[in-house]
Amino acid sequence: MDKFDAFSNDAHNDIVPTDMNFTSEVLAWCITRLKARYPFLRVGTAGTSIMGCPIYLLKIGNGHNEVFYNASHHANEWITSLLLMRFLESYARNCAFGGKIFDINAQLLYSKTTLTMIPMVNPDGVDLVTGALSEGDYFNRAAEMARRYPDIPFPSGWKANIRGIDLNLQYPAGWENARATKYALGVTAPGPRDFVGPSPLSEPESLALYEITRTHDFTLTLSMHTQGKTIYWKYLDYEIKNAYDIAQKFALVSGYDVEETPIASGYAGYKDWFISSFYKPGFTIEAGEGISPLPLSQFQSIYSDCLGMMTLGLTGLF
Ligand SMILES: [Zn+2]
Repeated sequence: MDKFDAFSNDAHNDIVPTDMNFTSEVLAWCITRLKARYPFLRVGTAGTSIMGCPIYLLKIGNGHNEVFYNASHHANEWITSLLLMRFLESYARNCAFGGKIFDINAQLLYSKTTLTMIPMVNPDGVDLVTGALSEGDYFNRAAEMARRYPDIPFPSGWKANIRGIDLNLQYPAGWENARATKYALGVTAPGPRDFVGPSPLSEPESLALYEITRTHDFTLTLSMHTQGKTIYWKYLDYEIKNAYDIAQKFALVSGYDVEETPIASGYAGYKDWFISSFYKPGFTIEAGEGISPLPLSQFQSIYSDCLGMMTLGLTGLF
């Protein structure tokens, strides 16, 4: 992994690079270096992907309040993995050196909240879109599926996991409704996007998030996606205490719009399942604007838009 070492030859330099595609290998490299520099980070895995890649689970903080952030359910939204990892690095640095993040004392947040993070839910899909996976059986099978959808560019339009199942249509919250909606639109088989799979949680990646969530007591979840500068906070008519108010605060610090989920994508997402199973606030953040994968040139503006939401999410002060 020495090819990335140019980015960390100085303890004051950032470890997480913002000028290269954020593949599963870059993620693993960053985690190793961050753990070495900030030993208070806890590193584990939530499971493994179809191709056997670890689904990394990171924890920071020792507070009673538990929150959960995840990114890259969707392959071509991989810039969200970079977003969470840059946030983690900045937060860890400020914890180590007594600094502030978004004007809040980082050590205070650390003592009040435990953040659990799965920064790359779909590593195989990310590797496909970033070009890290460009040959072999899995690649060939994905390319073959993609040929049935000539209007969707390959691999840049790929959202699904490596066997063509959309991981954010996998959760047991109105999954049958999601299936009916997508089947009516003609998506009845594995492909680049929108296929719900043979059953809820049929994929190891969505099952990993399900198990992690069931074995924790999260008070809030953030699922990072692209794009649209939008905050989704609702599932059907579930009334979740504080959810709308938090969404409004998020809007204030990000400039993003608070919206109700469109009916066509209103079921079987992680947020939908979290809200309906635990009656706690769960959000989908659609970061940035444009056609996914969003270019790295947009990263700094996405980061500054989302920093407030990612920090306020830790406070538990709503
Ligand atoms: Zn998405």
